[in-house]
Amino acid sequence: MNTRITASQLYSHLVCPHRVAMDVAADPALRGEASAFVQLLWERGVAHERELIGSLPVPCLDLSSLSGEAKEAATREAIARREPLIYSARLSVHELLGEPDLLRFESGGYVAIDIKSGSGRESADGEEEGRLRRHYGVQLALYTDILEQMGLAAGRYGYILDGQSIETRYDLSEPLGPRSPCLWDHYLKARAAVRATLAAPQASLPANSAACAQCVWHEACFSRLKREQDLTLLPELGRAARDALREEFPTLRHLAGADVDAYIEDGRTPFPGVGAKSLRRFQRRAALLLQPEAGPCLTRPMAWPRAEVELFFDIETDPLRQLCYLHGFVIREGGDIATERFEGIFARDITDEAEREAFANAMVVFRRHAGALVVHYSKYERTEYRRLAARYPEVATQQEIEALFRPPRALDLYFDVVKPGSEWPTHDFSIKSLAKHCGFAWRDADPSGASSIEWFDRWARTRDPRFRQRLLAYNEDDCRAMRVVMDRLKTLPVRSD
Ligand code: SF4
Repeated sequence: MNTRITASQLYSHLVCPHRVAMDVAADPALRGEASAFVQLLWERGVAHERELIGSLPVPCLDLSSLSGEAKEAATREAIARREPLIYSARLSVHELLGEPDLLRFESGGYVAIDIKSGSGRESADGEEEGRLRRHYGVQLALYTDILEQMGLAAGRYGYILDGQSIETRYDLSEPLGPRSPCLWDHYLKARAAVRATLAAPQASLPANSAACAQCVWHEACFSRLKREQDLTLLPELGRAARDALREEFPTLRHLAGADVDAYIEDGRTPFPGVGAKSLRRFQRRAALLLQPEAGPCLTRPMAWPRAEVELFFDIETDPLRQLCYLHGFVIREGGDIATERFEGIFARDITDEAEREAFANAMVVFRRHAGALVVHYSKYERTEYRRLAARYPEVATQQEIEALFRPPRALDLYFDVVKPGSEWPTHDFSIKSLAKHCGFAWRDADPSGASSIEWFDRWARTRDPRFRQRLLAYNEDDCRAMRVVMDRLKTLPVRSD
């Protein structure tokens, strides 16, 4: 078993600690195929890296044809010669093994650079600049740690070279945010946790999370979670809460049958990170999940906004091209399903001009239905429309976008109703899970946001109209799913126990 700590293990650990254990110790026969979306990301990453390396202004020593010990020996020789730029390097010291995309000689030492196709910072919503990415930072920290231990580091920093060929400097000793430790501390913590997992992978537990959907171990982990009646099968109960509750409530059945009030004193529970309100909510959810025939319910009465016309609105974007290419509307009048029709505005190309044109056409729909109720699910549409308005201010002002997503004009079905005021016998509150629970079926056999990104990539490369049609149908079904869930919510009983 490989017990060296690598940058990809640190990355995996931050996504899901159990992934590290599965990768080193699980039966390979249990491993599923990487999804088409994951393969696309990998292919795009490799292509971007090749393109970027070919266009670098400085001569670069390319070690990508080597592997293992031979690559490491070549890297050490190149460093001894003070090569200015080394591509596809490999270095190790003690338990650490790093393969930075680039090593650059500067300020009397070497600095690590990783090439990423996305931006070096998280996307910002209203802020001047997004934060540095923790996942990237811990990887750069591992390379820097190796360089420091070898006496070769230029300093405690590295760079991310992004899809636009922009270098973002990662100062590893600076705090990540006002209340967050520095990236180096995040690195030390992640390194210690990975070390512990590698030493005892059998002690690691899976936990249901959003990351599972695209993970190659999904089936293996999910069947274990179900077999063990794991608490993370409950909506919004993650790994940390499960670990805090597990000793007292090892399974859903234990939690469902517990007298949780006996654990609450002065509004507090003995479980770190789990408050009294959350404990009662989780108990209610466990009972509902074990007795799904009880059905979903509202936990408080809901004052539904009234409007003659409703616009069930959903967009599709390509994060790889940073493009919003589809704006979909299911339009219903008088609450009558028979009046329902779909309008899908699909960008004619992958250019800025086509994105601007599609955005402008979508704004025409909104302005045409100035008195309609805009129904969307979660904040993504608003975030994306803020970006579009910042990029194309001649199409819509920021004020117009803010008003578009503010009550009474808009209803965020997830944040205004589902999350604060309903319970469902499902594993999460995604629109897919809730609509399927209501009996709604997507026409596509593989409906997911990740799949849609892959279909769009195929359309962008081939212009095959079948992919465009598939995306339109998928988006239409997403809009209809919202309508189905909203109509069901309006009929639910209120149970506020
Ligand atoms: S399926 Fe989920 S729990 Fe299992 S390794 Fe993957 S991300 Fe972790």
